[in-house]
This record gives sequence, C-alpha cells and structure tokens, in this order.
Amino acid sequence: MERTMVAARLHALGTPMTLDTIPIPKPRPTDVLVRVKACGIVPNMANVINNWPTWFPHQPLAKFPAIFGLDPAGVVEEVGEAVISVKPGDRVYVSPLRSCGSCKACRGGRRSECRYYTLNGYFSTSRDGQRIFDLYPYGGFSEYMTAPEYAIVNLSDNITFEQAGRFGYMGTSYGALKHAGAGPGQVAIIDGVTGTLGVAATVLCLAMGVSRILGTGRDERLLERVKALAPNRIEVMRLGEESVGEWAKSLTGGEGADFVVSALGAKAPAATMLDSMKGVRRGGKVVNVGGVAEDLPIDVKWLMDEQIHLIGSNWFTTEQGQEMADMVKTGTLDLSYLEHRTFPLSRVNEAISGLKDRDGGFSNYVVIP
Ligand SMILES: [Zn+2]
Repeated sequence: MERTMVAARLHALGTPMTLDTIPIPKPRPTDVLVRVKACGIVPNMANVINNWPTWFPHQPLAKFPAIFGLDPAGVVEEVGEAVISVKPGDRVYVSPLRSCGSCKACRGGRRSECRYYTLNGYFSTSRDGQRIFDLYPYGGFSEYMTAPEYAIVNLSDNITFEQAGRFGYMGTSYGALKHAGAGPGQVAIIDGVTGTLGVAATVLCLAMGVSRILGTGRDERLLERVKALAPNRIEVMRLGEESVGEWAKSLTGGEGADFVVSALGAKAPAATMLDSMKGVRRGGKVVNVGGVAEDLPIDVKWLMDEQIHLIGSNWFTTEQGQEMADMVKTGTLDLSYLEHRTFPLSRVNEAISGLKDRDGGFSNYVVIP
C-alpha cells in the first residue's frame, strides 16, 4: 500500500492553504527524503502567497496546488541510490536554493547565478522555473519532502530544528557578510538592524570577530535589545535623528566603516540607503540584501574616487549554510536570542498571517508538520 502524508497546499491565490493527504514521494537517485520537523516562516511569505504574481510577474510561483515552506529542517529518512554522504538519521537543514546544475555558473559552484535559480517552497527567479518546481514540488509545510543532496546542511545535536528553521534569512545575512569580507578588527554599519536580516547580521558579525557594529533602525525598544546583545561592541541610532553616514564617520575618527549591510525594509527610501553608504571608508563595501525598491541616484565619481564597491547579494551557498551550522556547533554563533513561536501544520495560515505581530528579528515563527 502507498504510504501517505499530510501537506498544506495552496489551491488558489488569496485562499487559505488546506491540509491534503498525498503520497509520500520516493527520492530519485541523487535526492534524499526528509521527515520535516520544523519549517521557518519568513516575513515575506504572506506577500509571496498573496501578491507575488501581481508584484513580480517575472518571479513565478509553482503551479497549484503548491506546497510552500522555505526553511525546512528535519531528519533524513531515506536516500537515493547515488547519494554518497548523507545518511538516514542525519539531522539536516534543507537549503531551498535549486538550480539547473549544468550551466557555467552551476558548474562553478555559483548556483545563485543560475538562470533557473528557484527557491523551493517559495518562488522562482526564472520564467522557466516550473521545470525546477516539477522536480522538487515539496516545500517545508509538509510532513515529508525530497531534496537534492547538494542542498543538505548537516546539523549538530546542539542546534534545534526550530533554530535551523531560521537558517534561510540568517544565511542571507551571512552571504552578504561574506561578500563584504567581514572579519576581525572591522567596523560594520548594519542598516535595518532590528529586522530579521539585521539581527541575524549582528549576531553573525559578533561570531565572525567584527569589532564594532553600528546599527540603525526605527523602533527604539528593539534598538536597545540589539545593543544589549553586546553593549561594548554595538552602537545603535534611530533612523531620521541624524545622518547615518556622518554618525559612522564621527564614531571612527573620520575614517568610516569597512562595510555597510543594507537590510532596510521594502518601504525604506533610497535616500536612507544612500546616506549610510557615505559612512564607509575609502575602498569600503556596500552590500545590499534588503528590500529598498527604488532607483538609487548615485554619485559615480565618488564611487570611482573612493573605490567603493556596491554589491547585490541574495541567499547563500550550501557551504556557507554548513559554516553557520559549524559555528553554532562550536558555540561561536549564539542563536539563543531567537524566541520561537511554534504552530502545528493545521495552523499554518494563522502562523503566516500572524507575523506582523512579531518582535522584529527576535521572533522566530515556525511550523511543525
Ligand atoms: Zn545552472
């Protein structure tokens, strides 16, 4: 008899997901089958399932009925015959980044540059993304899912599945920090420091040895919570009180920060981003990983004179996901700041719509299938 599982599926835009009983998939030769134990919900998920096809028609969703769920973690149940390293019983995070595997970028290990770049259980960046969704139709709002071996991050016993359910946005911040060349002795500006990406970038900077973190945000109470993570290394400023660029220069003896991570929200004006950029030193890096959606009017002569690097970054490699897991294993990266709000799969709709009540980047909404 065919074994079945329960999955939350979206049958039409703007309707609640329903719990459907469907067959448990068999992993293909290079895939693994994971029993999902937790799946994180990112703040943007509500936008994806309600508004994405209207807002960003060039980033298609999977055909309906579709199983969403971006950040699954669980236990490997079964592996395909060509899987080499992953074993049944392994505790894992499944990175949702899927790509063709055969283009130049993929062969170079740069899967996020692939034309087929698709985030499993979320959306594709390719008009041909349905091909990838057909291969991997199972998101994390499901009891079981298949995933390619290349997407698997091994978790040590001291990482909970709820914590691993946050690896997506945490890894997004980590990927940005790798682009920035973050490391010991440096000064960082993190714009939008109180949000999901911003708080993650802060704890990652602390783990990576960054000396000083200059964070900006709007919510005074959340800014104080961020500062309390490491009061001797973190300074915070309320956006709008003064120029971020001038503030950063004044705190660094006129030198400027080594890099800016721009993790501002979608409603933030480009002028805010531009102001923070002016806080970097000569040769400094500006990495955009946030939601600013306006054109940036930029003085390219300043860019040339001061040799400023402006870099777009999104998601992260499985290798970088593994590095984060390894930092948690050794205790370098402390995820104890996360406050988990867990929901059974039957309350997935409520969980997604409830994210607007979160405590900035400290809340972690997780569905338990
Ligand atoms: Zn490719």
